Amino acid sequence: MPWLARFMLLGALAPGRPATAPMSLVVATARGEARIPVRTDGTTGPMVAAPALLAALGGKAEVVDAWADVEIARQNFRLVLGAPYYSVGAGLKPLVGSAVVKRDTLFLPLQFVTNVIPAELKDRYRYIASAGRLEDRAAPPTGTTAAAGAPRNPKRLPNGLNKGYVVAVDPGHGGVDPGNPGIYFPRGLTESDVTLQVGLLVREELLNRGVGVVMTRTTDTLIDIRQRASYCSDRCNLFVSIHVNSLPRRPGFNKVRGFETYFLADAKTEDAARVAKMENEAVRFDQSPGAEPGGGLDFILKDLQLNEYLRESGRLAELIQSHLGEVHSGPDKGVKQAGLWVLTTARRPAVLVEMGFSTNPEDAKVMSDARSQRNLAGSIADAVVSYLLEYQRRVSPDAETRTVGGRE
Ligand SMILES: [Zn+2]
Repeated sequence: MPWLARFMLLGALAPGRPATAPMSLVVATARGEARIPVRTDGTTGPMVAAPALLAALGGKAEVVDAWADVEIARQNFRLVLGAPYYSVGAGLKPLVGSAVVKRDTLFLPLQFVTNVIPAELKDRYRYIASAGRLEDRAAPPTGTTAAAGAPRNPKRLPNGLNKGYVVAVDPGHGGVDPGNPGIYFPRGLTESDVTLQVGLLVREELLNRGVGVVMTRTTDTLIDIRQRASYCSDRCNLFVSIHVNSLPRRPGFNKVRGFETYFLADAKTEDAARVAKMENEAVRFDQSPGAEPGGGLDFILKDLQLNEYLRESGRLAELIQSHLGEVHSGPDKGVKQAGLWVLTTARRPAVLVEMGFSTNPEDAKVMSDARSQRNLAGSIADAVVSYLLEYQRRVSPDAETRTVGGRE
């Protein structure tokens, strides 16, 4: 029996155990509110990435031998790695799930947040199950004065961002251009359907974080590839294009999986050149006159040697990769560079995210499952907020900076 079916059966048989875990949690403290994605993959129960949780709570964690040592509000917790137990002081107490380390990231079972923290630190934290919200009882209600008693900067959001940032979200392809056929997507979904679904969720997640959004499309329609980045004009800070990778059928093609983020430059590897060729093919659907592919792109790339946004785009790409790594079960294929038409008209930092391969069954599930789509969107939004916080600190280093991460 597949794992998921077994899990659902167990869920149905075990009374009192929720059949589904929340897709994300909100952690509300004096430093603001943070949304933490809840990850569930094929081998474990619901988990949260320790770095995201502890950044929000201002705690820390260390993996020592077979233990994860976690410190929150000066309280030490020890979780056994790979077995469902924890201890506070002496003796082991049971958990439903285990702490695990996956690709260098420590994950804690969801129950640690929903039950253990509120039980062991009950004077400090409470968990509101109906809202999926862990609250620091000491935190002032949103919109009142900050913890230090200083008046809150009215231009600043609880997550530390200034108000007024705008991000252009570009769901790739659409209309007569379905993108890649998505051979492992269910119900005949294509790349253009999945990029739109995730893109709309990214909009929602960004709006939740107080960031304004411009969409290049909100329906199944085609936007010229060379016009897309122009949606990010004067009042826009970043451009994020969302896509799905695929490989041509050849031996082993459906084993390749993982996520990668591109920014505009000459392709450095054969694989990056393949992605550029694949995504640039959409130029044949363009309705408006413009330079032909080939010479025009070379010209633009030369111009880009001077583009002040290249390094910024590279940093945004890094942050997207690291946040996606907290929710994606496939490998982090890293930050890549390629000559991508869709990014050429951007006059702002601009990246293209390949969320995974539709030609791999596991990746296809990560990108088409509703809960997982929400996690992908939340992590892209988190990366955008991290980037904007860094940007904000650089442009106004003297201003009060309240970071989500806390300890720096
Ligand atoms: Zn695409």
